[in-house]
Amino acid sequence: MEQYGLLGFPLLYSLSPPMHRAAFQAIGRQATYSLWPVEAADLGRRLAELRQAAAVRGFNVTVPHKEAVLTKIDELAPAAEAIGAVNTVRKVGSKLIGDNTDARGFIASLQEIGVSASGARALVLGAGGAARAVCYGLLKVGVEEIYLLNRTRARAEALIASLADQRIRLVDAPSTLEVLSTLDLVVNATSCQEPWLAFGLAAEVVWPLGQGLAVDLAYGDMLGAYLSTAAASGWQTLSGEGMLLHQAAAAFELWTGQPAPVSAMRIALRKALVSND
Ligand code: NAP
Repeated sequence: MEQYGLLGFPLLYSLSPPMHRAAFQAIGRQATYSLWPVEAADLGRRLAELRQAAAVRGFNVTVPHKEAVLTKIDELAPAAEAIGAVNTVRKVGSKLIGDNTDARGFIASLQEIGVSASGARALVLGAGGAARAVCYGLLKVGVEEIYLLNRTRARAEALIASLADQRIRLVDAPSTLEVLSTLDLVVNATSCQEPWLAFGLAAEVVWPLGQGLAVDLAYGDMLGAYLSTAAASGWQTLSGEGMLLHQAAAAFELWTGQPAPVSAMRIALRKALVSND
């Protein structure tokens, strides 16, 4: 039987197993999806085992190994290289090929609600791994401009330097207020539920200045006031649940070469989120 799994640590809980198990079941594929906790010190040894195990066809990678595996696998897809992190590995023979499906997942979640980022003007809050994936995805689909605002300026500068695209520019909080009425999209890619506070801004001041789509990459019980305050000012809103679903669907397609049964995966994800609340 084919084996798939998730590498990370400590892996107390993950939404990936229910989504992938439901997907394999929906298409009638004999496969397992397991949690494979591995500490940083054991990562190299575990990757060598997975390389040799014929039944293992692919796996996901999560915290804290997303960057560490970059230099420990055999090949990188362009998205993983540009984003600087791997969340999906597929095997070809015993070769491990690292990819990153977060950008694809983010863009698919916009498309699913009928939003095209092509020609859009976006503000991205945050400069961590998720912000990197969002910026990469937006650039790929032809965004017009991305303003990047992060608490730690040096991290935002590093993101901009590594993606090396003149459509991304660093902004500070006052400039953000100035451009808000020109934006189509504002993405909270911080791990903070009220990101405006970190920039000395109040949500009640910010949101009325514009109107478009507000996205929070958080989902389930991690969601805070960000989307509700945006909605109260007339913004359309979207949580990170769609991105989570579609990054998993993209991983499934990389592994199996078959279209992902997205509806079955969505039902499994919803169910898991509800039982987790
Ligand atoms: P990360 O690499 O640790 O980056 C965290 C980001 O949040 C950094 O920009 C950090 O700013 C900022 N931040 C943290 N605390 C803050 C605060 N109190 N005020 C303002 N900014 C703060 O994390 P990540 O992987 O990018 O994840 C970010 C969020 O996206 C998390 O909520 C995660 O769950 C979500 N996410 C969702 C999906 C999905 O599929 N929906 C996928 C990936 C991530 P500094 O640089 O100043 O520290």
